[in-house]
Amino acid sequence: MTAVRTTCPYCGVGCGVLVTPDGKGGARIEGDPDHPANFGRLCSKGTALGETLRLAGRILTPRIGGQVATWDAALDLVADRFLAAIRDHGPDSVALYLSGQMLTEDYYVANKLIKGYIGTANVDTNSRLCMASSVAGHSRAFGTDTVPGTYEDLDQADLVVLVGSNLAWCHPVLFQRLMAAKAARGTRIVVVDPRRTTTCDIADLHLALAPGSDAALFNAALVALADRGAVDDAYIAQHLSGFEDALAAARASDGSMTGLAPDDLADFLDWYVTTERVVTIYSQGINQSESGTDKVNAILNCHLATGRIGRPGMGPFSVTGQPNAMGGREVGGLANMLACHLDIENPDHRAAVQGFWDSPTMPEKPGLKAVEMFQAVAQGRIRALWIIHTNPAASMPDADAVARAIEGCDFVVVSDVTQTDTTALADVIMPATAWGEKSGTVTNSDRTISRQRPFLPTPGHARDDWRMIADVAGRMGWGDAFGWDSPAQIFAEYAQLSRLAGDLGRDFDISGLAGADYDALPPTRWPVSARRQGGRFFGAGGFFTPDARARMLPIAPRLPVAVTGRRYPFRLNTGRVRDQWHTMTRTALAPRLNQHTAEPFLEIHPRDAADLGLAPACLARVISPRGQAILRIAITDRVQCGQVFAPMHWTGETAPTGRVDALVAAVTDPVSGQPESKASVVDIAPL
Ligand code: SF4
Repeated sequence: MTAVRTTCPYCGVGCGVLVTPDGKGGARIEGDPDHPANFGRLCSKGTALGETLRLAGRILTPRIGGQVATWDAALDLVADRFLAAIRDHGPDSVALYLSGQMLTEDYYVANKLIKGYIGTANVDTNSRLCMASSVAGHSRAFGTDTVPGTYEDLDQADLVVLVGSNLAWCHPVLFQRLMAAKAARGTRIVVVDPRRTTTCDIADLHLALAPGSDAALFNAALVALADRGAVDDAYIAQHLSGFEDALAAARASDGSMTGLAPDDLADFLDWYVTTERVVTIYSQGINQSESGTDKVNAILNCHLATGRIGRPGMGPFSVTGQPNAMGGREVGGLANMLACHLDIENPDHRAAVQGFWDSPTMPEKPGLKAVEMFQAVAQGRIRALWIIHTNPAASMPDADAVARAIEGCDFVVVSDVTQTDTTALADVIMPATAWGEKSGTVTNSDRTISRQRPFLPTPGHARDDWRMIADVAGRMGWGDAFGWDSPAQIFAEYAQLSRLAGDLGRDFDISGLAGADYDALPPTRWPVSARRQGGRFFGAGGFFTPDARARMLPIAPRLPVAVTGRRYPFRLNTGRVRDQWHTMTRTALAPRLNQHTAEPFLEIHPRDAADLGLAPACLARVISPRGQAILRIAITDRVQCGQVFAPMHWTGETAPTGRVDALVAAVTDPVSGQPESKASVVDIAPL
């Protein structure tokens, strides 16, 4: 049987996969040697995809109030309840909560419905928990959410600084690429992380800085770059604004905040100042912070001041968690954006999108971001909520409060593939097609758009997300605007819309793909035109700000507001393990993936364990101001004294064991709205 070329559904590396179906519902999985993200490599999760293709546990029919229902009954009820909420309480009384697992075409249709036809921007996504601070940081600096790096930069760099990124476990194929580059050209690697992760195994230097102090480190780097003549005066004069203010703020910031040993800090600064080809990779350790946007801009400041951006082997590089977090950003899947990187608060942009859609309405202000959205649900301000491919009852911070809010909402519809903590709370459940059954596109961390292609028949009564949303839109009276027959037609419309964005001076223009052969579309990195005009990503036209200059921002580092003390003496960091994904709805189906880490755990330093009388592998109760979890103790010096780490994958099925997001307070970054997931305060009690 011929192999189908598709894309891995897990992380933002976006690896190409060759799938050979066995005709019995299974498939052989290989890495696609021709995909530019992975050139044939796969990690443990990607390799095990064939073991997750089973129908056991799938949602295969619509359900209303827990009872099997017809599609007509479910769609009619959803449309009626959304229309009733809008009629009685206004458009801002409804909301969509989406996912970076959705395909771009599905995202596009959801945004068109809620913004252009319902008339609210209450649409947000679990990508808010993943990389919203990068979006905000890029927008503040560049005027648009442009990721200036590519994967080839990792091959060409002489120094790679990984900040808050356990690349070895969270983006394993990029880590393999980095290891290959290190072997080939001796790339120096620095890891900045309070915890000694597996990524540190290949590091030349590990900076175990104090939690939350990353901005102070990069302020120190900016000062060193300026004092030692490494800034690019010509580039600053021609392309930047704000250099002097940013430098003054950096000089005023307290470098001791990092808690780093002077020799380690000196080595890092030496390398950072004297190496031109520097890539600074950052991920959730930066983004998932109540000061995440400032941390991002502290990093961008260093690359801008030196002109080390958008040139081979140089640049700041945000690596995204989910397979289509980038596609969601591009299509406007966040409450504060319009499609194609257009700005919801810009009247010209709103008029352009509304005109293109010929739609009756367009919100003039941003909607509710994820944490605000569930708070509004709890307060009764959201009366009808549609959750698509995500499990907020387990994965949102303050998860117990979010679960109670969903349970108390007037009307909740959930579209998903399997039963989750959240489907258990839904009034209506809609069965969605899964990876291997649906068709569309995703965009990975380096802006490469790839196809996800189907290779399995649609099971039961499952339906594609775009079609469900269009079906509801039709029942709400807008069938003509949602009358597509295929994802190809949706993609073509979206690509045509992006031409307007290009005309309005935005970076996202894929209109060259509007007439492309969708089925045969090869992996394509945008901008579709030449990437590096004049040697710079941003080209002769400059950046996407009104004066075409990138903005350096003055950054005053802030440590987490929650402080440890007698009642909650430990700082809790959360993250992923190598072989699980999100709340494990797919990865837990593969026996070999479960062997890596069998159950949720809490890493704690040997001295702290001794002080608490905790034996290796005993169970302990972890208590925060927001909730509790029971975790297996793992005694290790990978964490520092006073700090603990727990993975976030385990959910209500094992409650209260492992339900880690119930411990995390809903504290958010004031610019991006992204919650702090790395600096909760907890106490630990032996069981
Ligand atoms: Fe899939 Fe990410 Fe692994 Fe690649 S690195 S195979 S995209 S999980």
